[in-house]
This record gives sequence, structure tokens and C-alpha cells, in this order.
Amino acid sequence: MTAVIDTACAALAEVSGSELRVPLVQGGTTTYANFDYAASAPALAQVTARIEQLLPFYASVHRGAGYASRISTECYEAARGSVTRFLDAADDQVVVFTRNTTDSLNLLASCVPGETVVLDIEHHANFLPWTRHGRRVVRAADTVEETVRRIVGELCSRPAALLAVTGASNVTGEVLPLERLATIAHQCGARILVDAAQLAPHRRISLRESGIDYLAFSGHKLYAPFGAGVLVGCRDWLDAAEPYLAGGGAVRSVGVETTEWAPAPQRHEAGSPNVLGAAALAAACEALCAIDADTLAAHEHRLADRLRSGLAAIAGVRLVHIWSDSADCVGIAAFTVDGFEPGHVAAYLSAEHGIGVRDGRFCAHPLLAALGLDGALRASIGLGTTAADVDRLIGAVAELVRRGP
Ligand code: PLP
Repeated sequence: MTAVIDTACAALAEVSGSELRVPLVQGGTTTYANFDYAASAPALAQVTARIEQLLPFYASVHRGAGYASRISTECYEAARGSVTRFLDAADDQVVVFTRNTTDSLNLLASCVPGETVVLDIEHHANFLPWTRHGRRVVRAADTVEETVRRIVGELCSRPAALLAVTGASNVTGEVLPLERLATIAHQCGARILVDAAQLAPHRRISLRESGIDYLAFSGHKLYAPFGAGVLVGCRDWLDAAEPYLAGGGAVRSVGVETTEWAPAPQRHEAGSPNVLGAAALAAACEALCAIDADTLAAHEHRLADRLRSGLAAIAGVRLVHIWSDSADCVGIAAFTVDGFEPGHVAAYLSAEHGIGVRDGRFCAHPLLAALGLDGALRASIGLGTTAADVDRLIGAVAELVRRGP
């Protein structure tokens, strides 16, 4: 079983990041240990191959009868199909290509026909856009159960159009019970949007089975390059709203005084789209679909448990949690080291050990404030992470603590 997992993961882990050698402050170089997958994940071999394949046919889509244009158009439209299969989207849900999760959430915020309920734990991308018709912020409690009760209370207090929640916290990796929240939102007459920027790289999601109405993620966190993301969701709001951008491609016909806009997805994709980005993102979706989701999740759980328990065993290291009763968590661990500024620890790990972690407030200032933290460290794992990498990180943090501030 382990061999199967290792083979599957090794095949997918043929990523450029795993080959990187980085300089050390004491001289020489070492292999880079990437613990910053939550920021951006290096492209999979399958993604690179797709880009190389498409590059010679790189042309504007929906615009020409030439061979290159036809191939590009086919690839671009096929990419929607790959995303649809990856998310098991329902027939009335459309795939809109965007630049990234932030873009997707701003797009949906321009379509939402009423108030939006959000938690205060969100990444700023899922917190700042929802002000158009009114944003109602629910403060997360220290248990999932109480947090869900507060969401129910807010949704019941007066009508809301949307509940916008994170799929997995970008700070702690903790996962909310999304299916339950979808049911609650629907019972209260609202829809649910899941910011899956951190969830999609780690878990298979079925929009059909979960009842999720809208979902957003970024290609660059899903082992594809920067510049392409998706918003997937129910067609009616997208068709009823003003186009996100006005321009070519978003219209059926234009007169001097009149414009007939196209329906979604074209309605919200004005301008020449990012064909290569969409194709690369689709290749990542296909690669992830090709491996057994349970196998991957089990592999990740083992590494994440090793990481968390190893860090927690070091005197002075404190793991950061939002909830005391979280049932599920993706491969992200946030922590602090007593007596050390997070930035100092991150710089030390990079300079002396070639280990990349993230430090700061993770674009989640309200959450960090609620946790009473000015900053923290975040180690996030992905397909290229090995047990040896995890041990290397734990050993490096332990060495710093031994040396003292
Ligand atoms: N939502 C979450 C949970 C994230 O972690 C991030 C990025 O870190 C975003 C949204 C924004 O993603 P992007 O910068 O790709 O738009």
C-alpha cells in the first residue's frame, strides 16, 4: 500500500521545485525543502507537458477559422470540461475562467443579489469583496459547533443571499463541515460559496453531492502556473448580472446604442482569454483526478500528523488552531516559537537549512487579531513533500530552539 502511495505521489511530484538547489549562508547549496505549497505549488510535469504541447498553437480563441485558432478554442473549451469533471459540477453550473481566486470572488460579488454572510477567519480575498449589498460578519467561536450555531443564527435573523466560507483555512488548514453548511444555507434561503483556494489542492470536491452552489480556486495553488483561476457556479446569477468586464467576447451583438450581452461564461470573460493558463489548470485537474483521492488524503494525513506532532514536541513551539474540535484539516500547520519573531525563524530556516516557510499574517488580519497574534509561521505540504523533508524542518526548528534567542 505504502509503495503504491509513494509511486503515485512520486509520479505527481515530478515538479520543478523538488529539483531546486538553494544557497546556504554557511556556504554551499542544498536541495530546497518547499513548505510553502499553500502560497503557490510548483507546476506538475503533466502541466508543463500540456503547455509545451499547446505553445505552438497559441492563438486567440473564438476569433478565427485558422488551424491554430481552432486548436486553441478547442483546448480552451475542453478545459471547462476538465474543471467540470474535477469538481463534479451539476448541469446548471458553469465554469468561468478568471485570473485567480481573488478575481473569482470579486466577480461573484458583482453578481450576488443581496447580502452576504462571512466569517472573520477568512482570507482577505473572501472578506473584502462582499460589501456591494452588505457584508454581515459572524465572529468564529472556539469550536466548530458553536461557530456553526452562530452562522445559523445570523442566517435566520434576516434574509441573506449568500454564505461565503473558506473550504480550508489558509492559516491553519482547518476544514469546516461544508455539506452541513450548504444544507443550513439552503434551509435559510441562501446559497453557499466555498473559497476552495486551499481545499481544492488537497481534497476532491463534488459540487453535486455537497450542495455547494459556487466555488472558486486558483491554478497556481493547484500545481499550475499563475494567471488562471475559476469560478464555478449556478448560471442564473451569472446570467442576470452585468458583465464583470465590458468588451469583446462578452457580447452577442453591439450597435451604436444597444448591446446584447452573451450569457455566462462568455458574459464574464471579456477580452482575449488566458488560453495557456486555462489549459494548464485543466491539466492539473486531470492529473489530480487520475489518482485515488483517498490514497492521496491518507498520504497527506500521515505527513501532516508527522509535521504537527514533531513540531508540538519541541519545547516553546505552539501550534495555532482556530477550533478545539476540528474534525478535519488539510496539510497546513501554523505555529509560533516562544522568544522568536516569526520572520526571524523563517529567515533562519531559509538561510541555514534551505527550507521555505511563510511567516506573517497570511492575508487574514481579522483572524490573527482574534487569535491574539501579531504573526506566525506556516508550513504547508503538497505532492512533492516527503517524510524526510518533514523531519528536516522539525530538526531545524529544534536546533534553533536549542541555540536560544
Ligand atoms: N483564498 C484563500 C483561502 C487563499 O489562501 C488565497 C491565497 O492565498 C486566496 C483566497 C487568494 O488567492 P489568489 O491570490 O490566487 O487570488
